[in-house]
Amino acid sequence: ATPTAVMVATGKGASLGVLIKGGNALENAHKVKTVVFDKTGTLTVGKPAVVSAVLFSDVSMEDFCDMTIAAETNSEHPIAKAVVEHAKMFRQNNGSHNDLFTEVKDFKVHPGAGVSGKIGERAILVGNKRLMHLSSVPLGIEVDKYVSENENLARTCVLVAIEGRAAGAFAVTDPVKPGAALVISHLRSMGISSVMVTGDNLSTATAIANQVGIDKVFAETDPLGKADKIKELQLQGTSVAMVGDGINDSPALVAADVGMAIGAGTDVAIEAADIVLMKSNLEDVVTAIDLSRKTMSRIR
Ligand code: ADP
Ligand code: MG
Repeated sequence: ATPTAVMVATGKGASLGVLIKGGNALENAHKVKTVVFDKTGTLTVGKPAVVSAVLFSDVSMEDFCDMTIAAETNSEHPIAKAVVEHAKMFRQNNGSHNDLFTEVKDFKVHPGAGVSGKIGERAILVGNKRLMHLSSVPLGIEVDKYVSENENLARTCVLVAIEGRAAGAFAVTDPVKPGAALVISHLRSMGISSVMVTGDNLSTATAIANQVGIDKVFAETDPLGKADKIKELQLQGTSVAMVGDGINDSPALVAADVGMAIGAGTDVAIEAADIVLMKSNLEDVVTAIDLSRKTMSRIR
């Protein structure tokens, strides 16, 4: 594109809240045939909330809550915040007002899986099924049933193991953004297919994908794995845009032909992206590609 055309288009974009970082970004966007969406915070609202809790072993609800609160308070993960909030509320509703025992030894974050540590003499593990498998915590039929029932409802399960035994679990919901399905169908009408990548498990991810009309899902991927999936798609000969909020997905934003950061919130995202959707509006994925297509067709 000529410098003038780029200037006009980026100016138009800016007025719409779509920040296009230069001519390459603009030119690459018109070739996009596949859009890869991050799940958490991109297709979903990104504010998880606990909708149910269950005990599997003979620990008391209070003990279960205290141990979980202690471990998850040390985590920055939005799921951890939801779990802590719920456990504190539950504790209070059951008349517990005494001080929490919060000192955690050997605290460890397992990225994309959960956290672990020791409280007093007891080991605690909070996270997904993969974390339980990694630590050889046996999960019985009761646990499997709770997990699969909730995952099929698009919820993420947080399992808690105390001393190597499944003690209980929380089911967490993170609803889909109201406009998400429309954006996917809009893209389809433009000849563009949509894909999901997430660190979450396959069942939950698939349930969310079904809600928005995405039929290709890459689940249980870590940040570098997300970038690898982008590269795989590119090797198949398709030009790929990645849409993410920057949390866990900046390598993928960089790997994509066009990285689109949703939300002006995270600095990493703005840094890694080619296009920033300033209004945090998913529909602006369409706006950006549309603008690029119109600019490029006017030139040729
Ligand atoms: P996403 O790609 O969806 O942002 P992450 O890679 O951050 O997901 O995490 C993947 C999964 O790991 C979560 O869905 C959750 O099951 C589990 N997980 C990660 N951190 C925690 C935590 N602090 N507490 C409980 N579960 C966690
Ligand atoms: Mg995210």
